[in-house]
Amino acid sequence: MNSEKIWDHVEAKRQDYLDLSDRIWGMPEIAYTEYRSSAEHTAMLKAEGFKVTENAAGIPTAVYGEAGEGGPIIAILGEYDALPGLSQEAGIAEPRPLPGSGNGHGCGHNMLGSAALLAATALKNWLEETGTPGRVRYYGCPAEEGGAAKAFMVRAGLFDDVDAAITWHPASLTRVDEALSLANTRLDFTFTGRASHAAAAPHLGRSALDAVELMNVGVNYMREHMPSSARIHYAYIDAGGVAPNVVQGKAKVRYAVRALDLPGMKALNERVIKIAQGAALMTETTVDVKVLSAVSNLLGNTPMEKTMYNNMLRLGPVEFDGVDREYAEAIQATLSDEDITSDYRRCGVRPSETKPLCDFIVPLDQVGEPMIGSTDVGDVSWSVPTVQARVATHAIGTPGHSWQITAQGKAGPAHKGLVWAAKVMAGTAVDLMTEPSALEAAKKDHAARVARTPYECPIPTDVEPPIQPRPADLAA
Ligand SMILES: [Zn+2]
Repeated sequence: MNSEKIWDHVEAKRQDYLDLSDRIWGMPEIAYTEYRSSAEHTAMLKAEGFKVTENAAGIPTAVYGEAGEGGPIIAILGEYDALPGLSQEAGIAEPRPLPGSGNGHGCGHNMLGSAALLAATALKNWLEETGTPGRVRYYGCPAEEGGAAKAFMVRAGLFDDVDAAITWHPASLTRVDEALSLANTRLDFTFTGRASHAAAAPHLGRSALDAVELMNVGVNYMREHMPSSARIHYAYIDAGGVAPNVVQGKAKVRYAVRALDLPGMKALNERVIKIAQGAALMTETTVDVKVLSAVSNLLGNTPMEKTMYNNMLRLGPVEFDGVDREYAEAIQATLSDEDITSDYRRCGVRPSETKPLCDFIVPLDQVGEPMIGSTDVGDVSWSVPTVQARVATHAIGTPGHSWQITAQGKAGPAHKGLVWAAKVMAGTAVDLMTEPSALEAAKKDHAARVARTPYECPIPTDVEPPIQPRPADLAA
């Protein structure tokens, strides 16, 4: 059986990649600053004998490595970016940030990247051993969190010759991802007015802060009249200063506009921009609009989802032990009942008892109440057939982007889930490489979906990734 052979190749390398995941956990770097983390992944690719391309798509923290000859090209996508404000000591069940940057792996991308690279390495070794024609390409993708790096990588043509892409995300419940995510644009609105003394010459001032506030009020009124699946959020980037006796001449607000698909997002963006222009008109200020990044919604692929699900069933659920369950219970004690039940509801699972960890596989096609975020995997999924696993690595109920995820990032369940995810991804890739009909079906499904709405990169052509400088103490 091909799948068992490939799983042996995963097992043979497991410790190296658990260590890699733990090292990445210990160097949390946020969007486009992942110089140390990408160097770790690059070193691993080189040590395993991949043909490596650094500075992929002109992004210094993006890298890819290829192995194999001829045949289809299967991409395995990894990530390694962390989040600000989620620094946390590992292995405990109370919030305790570590000294340092304040960053933490609160979305589990330390595991995400390591399992993806482990799957790619196992595939490379399996291709060599069996002499199967086919190529595996590992993509080390930075800045998933708000940076849309994969959308820039797709725009640069990095996936043009890829036949299919596979990835995963750490989760609390194990299942094939249902391919629901929101298209998302981040835009900055900078208002410029005229500063003046707020008491002595208020009539001479034109407040940029007023404009931001009026814009936000306008958008909040718009909420009643937009699709209920859409989401709009904002954050003040610059409130114009700290002096209340100055009319603020400059102010800046950042918006995230999300919708179920690209046309829906485009329509909402236009409405938000109109409101900004209205606020500028009301306050006699001017507004400058700048798109920072954008990602597409995820496109599903029914044949590949089935292939992945069959691999999950063959493998059987992730197996946890008593120590794992005890720690997960301690984490659950920090959560509300609502956290835990909503996790189940999301997957349409009605448990007879609540469990600390997911020792089952959520059936394919199980309909739940999805709570939808956004991911730059979306743009890859429009470019090539793509499938994603969600694999249990933390306690059921653990909220996304939380100190609890950082805390659990090096524990037993994280390690067990990581290796299991690598097996599922590698097994899925083997099926696509050895069964031409499976890959053909995946491509046909993809072509039909894209034919309905052709893909258009949501990032304007003049917008470049916000590359950050290399740390001075790190050699190029
Ligand atoms: Zn994530």
